[in-house]
Amino acid sequence: MAKIGINIATGSLQQPEMIVGIDLGTTNSLVAIIHPDTKKPVVLKEHDGAALVPSIIHFGNRGAITVGDKAKEFLIAQPHNTIFSVKRLMGKSYGDVKDQSSFFTYKVIDDNTESLVKIQAGDKFYSPVELSSFILKELKTRAEHILKTPVTKAVITVPAYFNDAQRQATRDAGKLAGLDVLRIVNEPTAASLAYGMGMSKEETKIVAVYDLGGGTFDISILRISNGIFEVLSTNGDTYLGGDDFDRVISTYWTDQLGLTEEELNNNKSLMQEFRLQAEEAKKHLSNKDSFSCKIADYEMQLTKSEFERLIKPFVEKTIQCCKNALLDAGVNKDEIDEVIMVGGSTRVPAVKKAVSESFNKKLHDSLNPDEVVALGAAVQADILAGNNKDFLLLDITPLSLGIETMGGLMDVLIPRNSKIPSKVGRQYTTQKDGQGSMRISVYQGERDLVKDNRKLAEFSLIGIPGMPSGMPKVEVSFLVNADGILVVKAKELRSGVEQSIEVKPQYGLTDDEVEKMLLDSITHAKEDIQTRALVEAQTEAKQIIETTSQFISKNKNFLTVEELTETMSAINKLTELMDKGNKDEIQGHIEKLNEISRPYAERLMDEAISTAMKGKKI
Ligand code: AMP
Repeated sequence: MAKIGINIATGSLQQPEMIVGIDLGTTNSLVAIIHPDTKKPVVLKEHDGAALVPSIIHFGNRGAITVGDKAKEFLIAQPHNTIFSVKRLMGKSYGDVKDQSSFFTYKVIDDNTESLVKIQAGDKFYSPVELSSFILKELKTRAEHILKTPVTKAVITVPAYFNDAQRQATRDAGKLAGLDVLRIVNEPTAASLAYGMGMSKEETKIVAVYDLGGGTFDISILRISNGIFEVLSTNGDTYLGGDDFDRVISTYWTDQLGLTEEELNNNKSLMQEFRLQAEEAKKHLSNKDSFSCKIADYEMQLTKSEFERLIKPFVEKTIQCCKNALLDAGVNKDEIDEVIMVGGSTRVPAVKKAVSESFNKKLHDSLNPDEVVALGAAVQADILAGNNKDFLLLDITPLSLGIETMGGLMDVLIPRNSKIPSKVGRQYTTQKDGQGSMRISVYQGERDLVKDNRKLAEFSLIGIPGMPSGMPKVEVSFLVNADGILVVKAKELRSGVEQSIEVKPQYGLTDDEVEKMLLDSITHAKEDIQTRALVEAQTEAKQIIETTSQFISKNKNFLTVEELTETMSAINKLTELMDKGNKDEIQGHIEKLNEISRPYAERLMDEAISTAMKGKKI
């Protein structure tokens, strides 16, 4: 039963805790929830109607930290202490961003090119994770203020191209802000969810998500099938967006007036005024045909057609990226079922027209393009809250999945933190001649020996036709679908016999248990490496004993008595050592046995070759 409480501070009824959806953007961030009454996603707004929180942090004199609109006011006056575009630095080393250093007006520390970047503000140094956590903390506080209830759980969106380090950095930022980040969701996935796509299990479609914001452009091609969102390709330009539109308008005006760069550099506030009015003009021209304003004593004008001419190169560039994305995804434009528009700059009619013509499709643009990602994050949050029982979308595997191989070793097929859905196949073979079946034991965990991990399932592939050991090719494939269901399939490729099993890996493990398993793997890392090395040596010893024994029983007459006794005693010694547990000793004796057998093995080989060559002319 849901709990209802009273907020002592405000005296109002507290809602049961909700999971919020957060769009942590490069320029702006925002929070959305599913409205408890309408059950529709809505963004959280302050009394003044503001939903967007500029992703900007200002560090004041006495350690005061402000975030959002208030911080934005310091962008020009205090560029060293006002941090913007932190998202561009998430999970990055200085080496990754050094070419873009002119973009940042604040100090990005460059003492060690391999380590993750730090940002200097005043006399303190901050990581992008800490800086992002300030933004998230502000969003959390606002949400709590608006909802009048504590907010501790969130879904946060990231670009589809974010790698594991960037996703982890985003998670960590959430944790630091006091948020339990239940899921990191791809922005194009969230946008699709906001438009209700992927909510029916039967649905299969290919979606293009065109996201043009203030400073970045992304195009993602997704395939949605059975509730699985698969990113087929992403493309874009991390330095292309509405800011470029503002810049070309501003330059167009200052060129008209014959103002030089030097004059503008010497009058920063005039330059800033041109930029601000340029943005006004751009927004105005999304609905009107002409714009005019006064800057200082100058009367400035801009028509819609002139504006469209100015931004044409940028728009064309985005269309080229769309074509590249289609190529990479291996789909042609007629196969695209839906096109979704995201980001404030998709309000520009010329942008809409170009995209619609390029895909030859009507666009999904009815939702506010600034809000659509956050709205989708709220939909995802609601699914996680269990309010939509049909869905349990999972984005990454919390623990590694693998099978048991010789000597009880864990062979990982899907490493932890793999994005799902995920599919991996690997080939194995039999150990014994004529082996007719193979047992597949599936485990979850990070330790090297399966006995320390969690067994999920076991089955046998039976009916493998009799073949010498090493001949059968058994392909074991792991597929984790979006529901977190793992399907393990084993197939002998020569004969076609196959067998499969379904496992639900994540269920039954609490977050604490997952954490404990990860901690264990770190604590025991050294011991595990030693054990793995020993088991590998034992396995190798077993194999070499078997093959050498087979060889000498077949070719007894070919060996001298000395060779035979030497080989037998080396085999006996190795057998004895195998159980003793000293890896180096085992390896030393494997080498010894190899040395003893090498001369007669080579002799036999030479003989075989000369027999084969007999009677043949070269
Ligand atoms: P985002 O990064 O998605 O928040 O998008 C911000 C960008 O959208 C900025 O460059 C804004 O100037 C731009 N933008 C906002 N509203 C409009 C509008 N009505 N017409 C054109 N561009 C807009």
